[in-house]
Amino acid sequence: MQRSSIARIDAKRRTDLDYKKRQFAAPKWRDQEYKHRLNFYTIPPTAEITLEEFEEWAIARLKVLSELEACSFRNRGPEETTSYMKPILEKHLPLQSNSSRSTQLDAQRKKDHYSHFILRLAFSATEDLRRRFVRLETALFRLRWNEDDTRERRDFVDSLDMGSEWEKVTEEERKSFGEELRAATPWGKSKGEEDGWFKVDWEKVPELVEQRKVLLKRGKAYVPVREQSSLVLAEFSRRLETAMELTARALPRLDEDDRLSPILSHLSTSFTAPETAYSSDTALDGLTTPTAASVDALSQHFPLCMQHLHRTLRQNSHLKHFGRLQYTLFLKGIGLSLEECLIFWRRSFKLITDEKFNKEYRYNVRHAYGDVGGDANRRGGGYTPYSCQKLMTEALPGPGQTHGCPYRTFAPDNLIGLLQHTGINDRQTLNEVRDDVKRQRYHIACNRVFEYKHRNEIKKVKDDGTWSGAQLDTILHPNEYFKRSFLLGHLGEEGNALKDEIRG
Ligand code: SF4
Repeated sequence: MQRSSIARIDAKRRTDLDYKKRQFAAPKWRDQEYKHRLNFYTIPPTAEITLEEFEEWAIARLKVLSELEACSFRNRGPEETTSYMKPILEKHLPLQSNSSRSTQLDAQRKKDHYSHFILRLAFSATEDLRRRFVRLETALFRLRWNEDDTRERRDFVDSLDMGSEWEKVTEEERKSFGEELRAATPWGKSKGEEDGWFKVDWEKVPELVEQRKVLLKRGKAYVPVREQSSLVLAEFSRRLETAMELTARALPRLDEDDRLSPILSHLSTSFTAPETAYSSDTALDGLTTPTAASVDALSQHFPLCMQHLHRTLRQNSHLKHFGRLQYTLFLKGIGLSLEECLIFWRRSFKLITDEKFNKEYRYNVRHAYGDVGGDANRRGGGYTPYSCQKLMTEALPGPGQTHGCPYRTFAPDNLIGLLQHTGINDRQTLNEVRDDVKRQRYHIACNRVFEYKHRNEIKKVKDDGTWSGAQLDTILHPNEYFKRSFLLGHLGEEGNALKDEIRG
């Protein structure tokens, strides 16, 4: 009886149901060939990669996409965006052309291919995420397209399966319409022939028809290759939009994989404000060691979130639990030792007795540094300083609490007041901050303020080339803000002046 009911199940359905067995089956994969630098991402990757690569590659692409988004939020023009993105792309997602003859071509293209598909999975869950992803991927494609070698770009377009919509103009047509084709393109006599043309229904290129940049024949527009960017880009977006919808439908099945789901959901939350891990590079190691006495002087380099905590602490001689934790970890991150941190808090809480301090506050500071607590806490060196993403996404502070990111937690008028109090009086910057905050682009507002405050130093390091572009990318961590502000504030100063400020 049982056997017959199993036999009645259609063989194909049975394969669908038996996912547990299927995941241990021999993987069917084939090596991908990456002939072109550009990719329309039509074929999903099938080879195996490690979980570390899965995460690292996705984070690298996410960094690139969020920097691109930051460029559009900052209204950077195409040229400015290209030069801003160049070092960032080289660092996180390099993609060289065939003519470079680099030995890394395959590895670079594989990373590009896989990271695209991983983020596709992470960002297909909601319509908003899908729309943002398509917009940013198209912007990335545009950047690469514009920089591609003309010949390689043409080979890439030839390789696309554009169906009947795009037809390459044949050699015979070129010969028979040669003069007309060249006459219909402003640069035709000198360059048109070398680039080539293709045919599309004229309705697809109304602006080119209107500008008389194409030859029209029997309902077809003969579009010069150099005018095809907009068509290729539109096609890229259209295909990606469709693919994202399909991915969204397949997404529930991924919940079965408990290795990937947490990584994917972490990646999609990182799209709100990109996550950045704390790096001990953000401490002032190698310069000298900050002390409890130098925190006041150093606070001029703190981001608004930490400045606000510092001021509140100075005003009230007290900070509530979450503010204390946020600030302790930040101070730990700039290199303040546990001993100095304890001195700092003890002196700051000047309205309470030693006994009360030791009983109620000392333990928490030591715990944050990993000096006490369970084995795991001690082995791991305590907690890590909070990133902007964490501060922007945690629960809003209640009455009397001062933790979090002020760009998010303050009412706009109060935020502007706070910024003015810290010396930001430029009307345009304040208006732009107000606008950023209204659109919930908190980290953009913070970076805008940073760039305004350090405009002269940034110009200097850019002009004399002492800092690479990647060193001036978007700040996503309060400790990175501090370090960058500190270093920009002490350009060319070595030795005593610098050390004096840190020592206090
Ligand atoms: Fe602090 Fe980050 Fe907010 Fe700036 S954006 S105030 S560094 S949490």
